[in-house]
Amino acid sequence: MATTDQDIRWELSDLCSDADEAREHWDAASARARDIATRYRGTVGELDAPALRELFDELDDLEQELSRLGVYSYLRLSMAATEVEANDLATFSRERSAEIENDLVFVGLEWIAIADDRAEQLLASDELAAYAHKLRVERLEKPYVLSEAEEQALNARRPMVSAWQSLHDRQVSTMEIPFDAGDGPEPHGVSRLLSYLYRPERELRLRAVDALYEGLEPRVDVLAAAYDALVGDRLTTDRLRGYTSPMQPTNMANELDDETVEAMMSATEESYGIAHRWFAAKAERLGLDKLTLADQYAPIGDPRRFTWDEAVDVVDRSYTRFHPRLAEIFRECVDAGHVDVLPRQGKATGAYCTSVSKTILPYVLMNFTNRLRDVSTLAHEFGHATHNVLALEGQTYRSHRVGLPLAEVPSTFAQSIADDYLLENETDVGTRAALAADRLENAFAAIYRQSVLARFEQRAYAVRGEGRSLAAERLNELWWEENGKYYGDSLEMPDGYRMGWSYIPHFIHVRFYTYAYSFAQLVALLLYRRYREDAKAFAPKYLDLLRAGGSASPADLVAPFGLDLRSPDTWREAFAELEAFCDEAVTLTAQAQQ
Ligand SMILES: [Zn+2]
Repeated sequence: MATTDQDIRWELSDLCSDADEAREHWDAASARARDIATRYRGTVGELDAPALRELFDELDDLEQELSRLGVYSYLRLSMAATEVEANDLATFSRERSAEIENDLVFVGLEWIAIADDRAEQLLASDELAAYAHKLRVERLEKPYVLSEAEEQALNARRPMVSAWQSLHDRQVSTMEIPFDAGDGPEPHGVSRLLSYLYRPERELRLRAVDALYEGLEPRVDVLAAAYDALVGDRLTTDRLRGYTSPMQPTNMANELDDETVEAMMSATEESYGIAHRWFAAKAERLGLDKLTLADQYAPIGDPRRFTWDEAVDVVDRSYTRFHPRLAEIFRECVDAGHVDVLPRQGKATGAYCTSVSKTILPYVLMNFTNRLRDVSTLAHEFGHATHNVLALEGQTYRSHRVGLPLAEVPSTFAQSIADDYLLENETDVGTRAALAADRLENAFAAIYRQSVLARFEQRAYAVRGEGRSLAAERLNELWWEENGKYYGDSLEMPDGYRMGWSYIPHFIHVRFYTYAYSFAQLVALLLYRRYREDAKAFAPKYLDLLRAGGSASPADLVAPFGLDLRSPDTWREAFAELEAFCDEAVTLTAQAQQ
């Protein structure tokens, strides 16, 4: 076994040989799109089912070509953010892609315009079965689409909306807060300050939190003004379109009904006690009477280092144990050079997985630094990759895609498979403690925090809807109250935390975006519970779920597992599973201290 980590990089030739070839292929794709438009524009409403099928297959093929070229240019940029050629290609690709989208936008519009009864007849045909769900979902927008002139007028004010968003982004991204992390004072941005919350030195964590609030203070009025303008604008547009609640557009995009989302969020609030129990245990481990916000993510345990080969081995073995097919896909991707491993100057940070097409395996970006957390990340990203591959095997390209709530389910699930494997096989107590604590705290961050964020938004929209403005003072108050419900007496919120809402980009860009994270984490927990009850029966059914891609709504996709998402009891069951994570973390962190 190799003990040193090789610099393993993406093999991009599966996508394209070079930037010149990519440009040529973009030109060819543009020509294809124009050709489709010439042949079909104005006729979609008159096509019968076989002719529609032909059109959708042609589009599906073209979309995979666009995906291949788009991914190529995106990956080039991820490898070298400042390289001129990569940036030129990215600009070129964006322009071509927008142009092609414009050429083909008529298909969706003409499809929606077809009368309901005729559309239903077409959707019931065998020919359109492979596209039926996605085509139905598109039509759900129909009642909320206005006349062409009204839509144009609404579109015309888009730059103004973006201006508020840009103003907010700029206010946050240009923050330069002087902070001394030990090497003298240096200007810090928000995310760099927040990264100190994962450091063992308490004094550093506390100072970082204070510095953040000091930095936000002079900007919070402008941040509130941007939010107030956007919420006001969204509420006005909602009224014009006829939406009945501010959450409705997001819920529709997520294919979840209001009842499901509310059942999930209420069950989440009922179970805050699990978090309180962990916060108390964590305070004890850290030798504190009570946690304060800066201690929430303080590391516990002392994990050992992992080589790249060890990480690959953990994912390979844990996937194999679950179902050999998952491990097979994982190894195929690694062997094909579809994972880029080490951090480098100019390479994108973080980790992601991107799906390409039916004939090209997905690509995964890692920034592997030998940490325990990187092993979980590898399992997570290949949860996405295995989902992509199986969904593309089972579905058309258009139908393989899932919305945000379901997209994070297989990745979270895969992470659990690997974490459990490690917990069973790892002998180092510090590593086991860190793993159990990490996994619990990640689940809290996804489930509880994201749900608090959504509740805060609900309150803000309600206040604005009653004609009151969202000044900083008022937003501070709503934020404080909603967070207070979560943390209760078990964790102390410093006064500056009142401004904690102000730098969160989701509020500004996509309203109610965050509850999808809670949803994914909870559904993954529910599936994991089913798996532990009966591993043999579960695995093949789970692979069917992956193969189903986005061919049905989330509720229908999880129904075979006996999950009724509208029932609060379903969600309560997920919290029973979270409780087990909590027990484990409490026990293992106690062992590590002995
Ligand atoms: Zn993910």
